[in-house]
Amino acid sequence: MTNDITDALNAPSEALGKWEAAAWQLGVNIAGPASGDVDEKARFPEESLAAFRAERFLSALLPVSVGGGGATLLEMVGAVRAVAAHCASSALVLAMHSIEIVNLNRHGTTDQLGDLSREIAANELLIANANSEAGLGGDVGRSICALDVTSTPWTLDKDALAISYGENADIIVATARRSAEASETDQAFVVVRAHDALMNPLSSWDTLGLRGTCSRGYALHATVHESLVFPVPFSVVANDGGGQARQLLLSAVWVGLAESAASRAHAYVRAAARKAIGTVPPGAYRLSEITADLHEIRALLVACTQRYEALDAIGDLQNAGLTIVLRNLKVTTSEAAVRIATSSLEVCGISGYQRNSPYSLDRLIRDSHGGLIMVSNDRYLRDNAQLLLARKSL
Ligand SMILES: Cc1cc2nc3c(=O)[nH]c(=O)nc-3n(C[C@H](O)[C@H](O)[C@H](O)COP(=O)(O)OP(=O)(O)OC[C@H]3O[C@@H](n4cnc5c(N)ncnc54)[C@H](O)[C@@H]3O)c2cc1C
Repeated sequence: MTNDITDALNAPSEALGKWEAAAWQLGVNIAGPASGDVDEKARFPEESLAAFRAERFLSALLPVSVGGGGATLLEMVGAVRAVAAHCASSALVLAMHSIEIVNLNRHGTTDQLGDLSREIAANELLIANANSEAGLGGDVGRSICALDVTSTPWTLDKDALAISYGENADIIVATARRSAEASETDQAFVVVRAHDALMNPLSSWDTLGLRGTCSRGYALHATVHESLVFPVPFSVVANDGGGQARQLLLSAVWVGLAESAASRAHAYVRAAARKAIGTVPPGAYRLSEITADLHEIRALLVACTQRYEALDAIGDLQNAGLTIVLRNLKVTTSEAAVRIATSSLEVCGISGYQRNSPYSLDRLIRDSHGGLIMVSNDRYLRDNAQLLLARKSL
């Protein structure tokens, strides 16, 4: 067993790996202390972004050859989990940005996209995505909008369902039909610089949880430079690495959230035990149930990431078995986060119910529900149901 694996199976506070340990410190010192204010004001976690930049997290997954940190996906999954244990919104920013770095690494094979990777590494640029579209829900494999390739330069108009931290990003990537004549699944994947994009809000972001992601809907009007269009269709970007990495990095957020909730229940039970030395507090039994759930999703996250890395090494990411496994990972971790947060509330009782208590589960319970709908678990289960009909093995 390598150190990486041991780290990711331990609590993130016990991490030895460079990226996960740095992410934990960033969570303790910066993201965690700001998380209450971020949640209350539904504001972007500026201080977390500044810290990501200072610690070079935004280029961590880029190869050393372009100035990046050369981190593995397993290391970044661990880092996202560690940040999520302090502030899920900050962790989502890092996770969503990192998904786009994976896409650039794998499919940004043109000279211009290579230059962009170098620029991201040099300046720690932040990437947002405008993939989902009003009218299509979570179905990012289709687009209503189309690139206008009759104008010079090309333009794009898209009613984006949600662009997380769109107003804070340096770069926005977006899907669109390749041209007005293209079918809705014939999508290009384009890179737009913030100064080439106009974004008019279509909705506010006053949500139940994950309030710091600032994921408003926007009418996006963008100038698109042909040189910044991915050389392969979006279906290839999504099916050959992007979609898979997305499930892993977002699941890391739901596991980190669960870590945070469980640690409050743990602290509460330990405090109760100190008050009555020699007794086992009543909440301890439920805590041990919680840890069984938590250890299961920790291990699942690591195993799935290793499976991704192994299949990637032999060029077999477009593997239906892996697709099913990773959709299940997302469903399992997001459901477990809600379950663990709620059980932790039952352990902490009124101390967990109070919003100003150190054991408060308020934000964590609200944030955890975001995992169920980002993207809808029902959608993934239904997609898996279809795939399973064609498969001979489970
Ligand atoms: C915090 C947060 C941040 C986000 N950030 C971004 C972002 O930066 N960029 C971006 O592009 N998008 C973003 N999204 C959008 C997200 O990726 C999904 O596209 C969006 O949440 C889906 O919206 P929906 O629930 O309206 O649609 P749907 O997925 O269509 O779901 C609506 C309802 O229909 C049901 N349903 C729909 N289709 C099926 C099906 N095939 N099978 C079974 N049931 C189905 C679902 O169960 C659900 O009840 C974000 C969402 C959240 C919550």
